[in-house]
Amino acid sequence: MSELKPGLCSRFTEIKNKLKEAEKSVDRKEGSVELLPVSKTFGIEAIIEGVKCGMTSFGENYVQEGCSKIDLCRNLFPNNSLTWHLIGPLQSNKTRLVAERFDWVQTIDRVKIAQRLSDQRPAEMRPLNVLIEVNISNQESKSGVAPEQVRALADELLKMPNLKLRGLMCIPEPGETPEEKLIPLRAMKTLFDRLKEEGYEFDTLSMGMSGDMAEAVQAGSTMVRVGTAIFGPRQYTTQG
Ligand SMILES: *Cc1c(COP(=O)(O)O)cnc(C)c1O
Repeated sequence: MSELKPGLCSRFTEIKNKLKEAEKSVDRKEGSVELLPVSKTFGIEAIIEGVKCGMTSFGENYVQEGCSKIDLCRNLFPNNSLTWHLIGPLQSNKTRLVAERFDWVQTIDRVKIAQRLSDQRPAEMRPLNVLIEVNISNQESKSGVAPEQVRALADELLKMPNLKLRGLMCIPEPGETPEEKLIPLRAMKTLFDRLKEEGYEFDTLSMGMSGDMAEAVQAGSTMVRVGTAIFGPRQYTTQG
């Protein structure tokens, strides 16, 4: 588990202000970009404190870690509806845990995983919101589908009754300069807009992290996923 340093609420406020500034600087409406705090590797006390600071959604990377936080929060905040996003890779043997708990899965890149999630989503829960992960930087070792494969996967997802396809996400290769960072982010925005023109009803383009938040807002992101800048540096000890 990572150690939470004091000052979570002020870092959260600072990032919210930075996001507002970024929106303003490119003439985007205030609040048009959602801020998703990424709490991976931090313990339940970080979530509890985050909720006190006004956080209402969390991004988690590891299935078991995320599920145990969700289960604890159901008891801790019975009247508080938090929204949970899985933003890390998902293996087929863990789909049931996710289908029974999460609100969003942002890393869909295979029909098989999506089909399992749809089949395993409990009937009394709302459809699971999903994003297709796009390998926009064409990185060999990375997950995500190639841009030209997005339509075929989207068409399959639209047939699944318990999933709601909301758009696209990406984790581009980290760029050094603002210009370098903007290249994959702009390519994503172009793809997103083209698919919408073709009739796909997308409302979410999830891109931008601590290191490229402003560039992502500039390029047209609708959701930035921010970990380090809010929760602080991570120690990677958890898995699963
Ligand atoms: C960890 C993670 C983030 C947050 O990254 P930071 O650089 O800490 O802001 C965002 N998205 C994904 C998919 C992640 O795995």
